[in-house]
Amino acid sequence: MKAIVKKNPALGLVIEERPIPQIGERDILIKIRKTSICGTDVHIYKWDEWAAKTLPLSSIIGHEFVGIVEKVGSKVVDFAPGDRVSGEGHLTCGHCRECKNGRRVLCPNTRGIGVNRDGCFAEYLSLPEENAFKIPNEIPDEIATIFDPLGNAVHTAFSTELVGKDVLITGAGPIGLMAIALAKKAGARTVVISDLNPYRLELAKKFQPSRIIDVSKESIGDAMKELDIQYGFDVSLEMSGSPQAFASLGEFTACGGEIMLLGILPAGAIINWHQVIFKMLKIKGIYGREIFRTWFQTLHLLQSGLDVTPVITHEFPMEEFEKGFEIMLSGNSGKVILDWTHL
Ligand code: NAD
Ligand code: ZN
Repeated sequence: MKAIVKKNPALGLVIEERPIPQIGERDILIKIRKTSICGTDVHIYKWDEWAAKTLPLSSIIGHEFVGIVEKVGSKVVDFAPGDRVSGEGHLTCGHCRECKNGRRVLCPNTRGIGVNRDGCFAEYLSLPEENAFKIPNEIPDEIATIFDPLGNAVHTAFSTELVGKDVLITGAGPIGLMAIALAKKAGARTVVISDLNPYRLELAKKFQPSRIIDVSKESIGDAMKELDIQYGFDVSLEMSGSPQAFASLGEFTACGGEIMLLGILPAGAIINWHQVIFKMLKIKGIYGREIFRTWFQTLHLLQSGLDVTPVITHEFPMEEFEKGFEIMLSGNSGKVILDWTHL
């Protein structure tokens, strides 16, 4: 089979012929239809410090996918050949305190497909059945393949109550953009998004937030005045990973407000702790998805009319993956999809 592999400790990836993976008795073999490129894959493409210390060379990369079950192991009960599936890329141990408590999202032994073991940028993927998720017919492949990042947005936005709230989202990357649609659907009073990349600011218009802020030109405070938000935002969703955006949340989040941190900030990012303490702000870190609570929420939101299609801006046949990574690196894209259906 064809696979996209991190071959050399340098910029780039290569397409290689690989054997179709073996499956264990509780695994399913999935024939991949579409995959999408995540920021993590871009780190691996660039071979930055994180990638170099995390990823074994010769790994097949990728963790966002949709495909069709081709074969199942002898002890698989919930899946059969022909089922269309996506899947949770975080493999949890099943034995630790958190897994046994039904909180797999907190498993300290989590391993990621396409990072700690071979991933889905290949014609076939072997996945434990407990990580697979059936996708109903009405969900198109393009949306099914982005359940993982959409799930990140769902996990973050639905970690608190948004009804009637003023919501600030910092960072109009794919996850921030999808969070606009979620906050609106959840009944927020205003949804304000900030960024500084012109392409992303333009793309944000398609999601019709209450206000789009170009932080290179204007302040979040200006937008608050315009929208008559007197006390600050009730909920701030940090989805940029920018220390500047994080630092501003102490000022612009309302007293008693909540700050959700999904963006991966540098370890030393700072906030004014006096603002956090005296305004009694709550800060919560968000990692991945609450398996499978978030997956069902995501599915049911889509089935009840959630529309995130404008976030998908490019699609290329898998052979042209370089184009996909280049456009991701430029910042001039939303989600970029690779198509495998012709193989
Ligand atoms: P992305 O990098 O495509 O988007 C980030 C956006 O933030 C960009 O459009 C950038 O221009 C913008 N930005 C930069 N500085 C800013 C500032 N000062 N104010 C406002 N916006 C600013 O990322 P994405 O794929 O949408 O993911 C969002 C973040 O979530 C990233 O940091 C990513 O690493 C992180 N992430 C975390 C998890 C998790 O489990 N915690 C999972 C997936 C992604
Ligand atoms: Zn565990």
